[in-house]
Amino acid sequence: MKNLFLVKDKIVIVTGANGGIGRAISRGLSENDAIVYGIDLKTPNTKSGNVFYHKCDVSKPKQFTKICETIFKKHKHIDVLVNCAGISLPNHKSNQQYSQKNWLKTIEVNLTASFYCMQAVIPYMMKNNQGSIINITSINAELGFPENPSYVASKGGLKMLSKSFAKDCGIHGIRVNNIGPGYIKTDMTKNSFKNKKLKKTREKHTMLNRWGTPEDLIGPTIFLASDSSRYVTGQDIYVDGGWLANGLVSD
Ligand code: NAP
Repeated sequence: MKNLFLVKDKIVIVTGANGGIGRAISRGLSENDAIVYGIDLKTPNTKSGNVFYHKCDVSKPKQFTKICETIFKKHKHIDVLVNCAGISLPNHKSNQQYSQKNWLKTIEVNLTASFYCMQAVIPYMMKNNQGSIINITSINAELGFPENPSYVASKGGLKMLSKSFAKDCGIHGIRVNNIGPGYIKTDMTKNSFKNKKLKKTREKHTMLNRWGTPEDLIGPTIFLASDSSRYVTGQDIYVDGGWLANGLVSD
């Protein structure tokens, strides 16, 4: 089979496209000739390469629905949605002291907004009886990390939300999968990356003995966006340097 990983001319929406991982995914897809619509709170400019940027708060469903409508009007298909927008609000105190405000905000952006975005895009994917939705979860969807209960809960919830949508949408030719990054060097993780001790601890937790880069997420995204994954749905792909599979963390 030739051109298994082809994403040429696919219409892709990436949320959080101005962040570390979202930017790399958008660029990676556009360099492989996909037409990418990058959504974020702040956007660099209107167009860069094959990436068209739109300012949008994904927790406001009306804004995102309007963008989907415009994209579909223009291209007559929407093929891929990557839900990558996310926030992390650790409090560095015990969970009992975690604020309700941060709990609600994190659940709203990481979980509820992903739900809204899937709801908005699916009617357009159904029109062509095909589509691939990729939700960016985390190793936090599997493991208990400290001082950030809403983040852990939001990613665990998103992991299962994907399976729920995979079940309901499979009949319409729409696949829904998760990509769960390990520690990737971006703005979100800059504090632990800058701290020598924390940086090293995280490195050692992987089997590859290094942090991930945003570019490490491009290949798995292209796999799930392309027809090479046409029989893959409801799955979790962890891009974590072996973090989750690691049985022994050495000193
Ligand atoms: P990042 O650099 O902070 O990027 C996140 C982007 O999402 C930012 O551009 C942010 O905008 C945007 N965003 C936040 N709220 C939004 C909203 N309501 N509407 C639209 N855009 C919004 O972080 P990242 O590391 O690339 O994270 C990307 C995704 O990967 C997140 O879902 C994160 O949870 C997940 N992840 C990251 C890691 C890691 O180690 N970095 C590990 C596991 C999972 P502002 O900057 O303006 O707020």
